[in-house]
Amino acid sequence: QENTPADCENGNDVPNEATRMTEDAEVDRGMEEVNVEPLGAPPPTAAVPSAASGFLAPDAAPSTSPTPQPAPAPSHNAAAEAAALSWMRCVLQPAINRQGKTGWDLAAVLRSLQTEADATGDSTTAAAVAAVLERFKEVGSNYFRVHPKGVGLVCTRPGGLAAGTFVQEYLGEVHPPWRWFEIQDAVKKVTGSELPDFYNIMLERPGDDAAGYDVLFIDGASKATFASRVSHSCAPNCAASVVACTGRLTIALHTVREVKEGEELTFDYCSVTESERELREAICLCGSVHCRGSYLYYAGSRTFQTVMAARHHFLHRQVFVLRAALEPLAEADEARLKKHGLGTSALGDRAAGTRLPSWLVKWTALVCEYVEQEEVLLRADLLALPQGRYTPEAAASGA
Ligand SMILES: [Zn+2]
Repeated sequence: QENTPADCENGNDVPNEATRMTEDAEVDRGMEEVNVEPLGAPPPTAAVPSAASGFLAPDAAPSTSPTPQPAPAPSHNAAAEAAALSWMRCVLQPAINRQGKTGWDLAAVLRSLQTEADATGDSTTAAAVAAVLERFKEVGSNYFRVHPKGVGLVCTRPGGLAAGTFVQEYLGEVHPPWRWFEIQDAVKKVTGSELPDFYNIMLERPGDDAAGYDVLFIDGASKATFASRVSHSCAPNCAASVVACTGRLTIALHTVREVKEGEELTFDYCSVTESERELREAICLCGSVHCRGSYLYYAGSRTFQTVMAARHHFLHRQVFVLRAALEPLAEADEARLKKHGLGTSALGDRAAGTRLPSWLVKWTALVCEYVEQEEVLLRADLLALPQGRYTPEAAASGA
């Protein structure tokens, strides 16, 4: 079995931004057969300490501490470490997923791997299994727990999936933003402080689309395809992109690298929270060496709110509403809305009689004007932070 780092450890260049594919590309990929199976039971992932990678470096010093601790990974042998990590991801984790409900028992997983390795003469796996079992004796099984993750999806297709394979459309109930946030408010009232389930995704209509930029929320909580049950990973093997297919926009999940049989399908949620509590509670169990620790990004940092706090607080926002009601929509406003990619999708269509009231269009233009000012001012604020924390490029992208 070939498990080189090259075929497994290349999940870092995943595009986070939604991209558009041509209709032809979408149709071609849609024809490819995939065989994936939704799981009723939580598919676990391995949280194996780095000491398990010591099997390729027999000269790694064993721990002599009175309380047994996993030995640090051998940093002097980067190739051996990479091979060990690759084995954990390409052989061990799929073996855990194949166990289904009993995947939490790593000893059982290792025994099944040992049997397979004996049958196929796979000496790498035989040595790795022996090394991990040896560490069991030294440090106890608590360091080799497999944590349950909730609902997920595992590739069961023999031979796995090639890179660039279309997996599935992400379908669900579609809501405009105002409706979506109404639902979220209602859900929060019922669930209280509990962290909500993430069975939803945001579809951004491309700004260069004829109808302009807009946002829709796709809720897969009760009516959905199994794409909504795919777990987050900080080093995912799939990506979700906005694609145009037979004249409509949809979200397609496709693999970004080769996926082995038994490997869990994952994508980067790219979800943002403004709550520190949510950030802390959203513990990521992706098991990747590149794990960020939380499956949410934090957007509540005060650094990014300096301009907002000074120039767009409650009273400023009331002024915007008053100005929108009193001032006529000028040509400059129309041009600004166009520049921000807002067209008939977000603002409605005069010809179809669905155009928003003019005060609301004016208000949208005023908000766009503020967004432009904020970008300039925030960039300057970030650059002015002590110790040169932001380069001009980082300040521009942060703003
Ligand atoms: Zn992670």
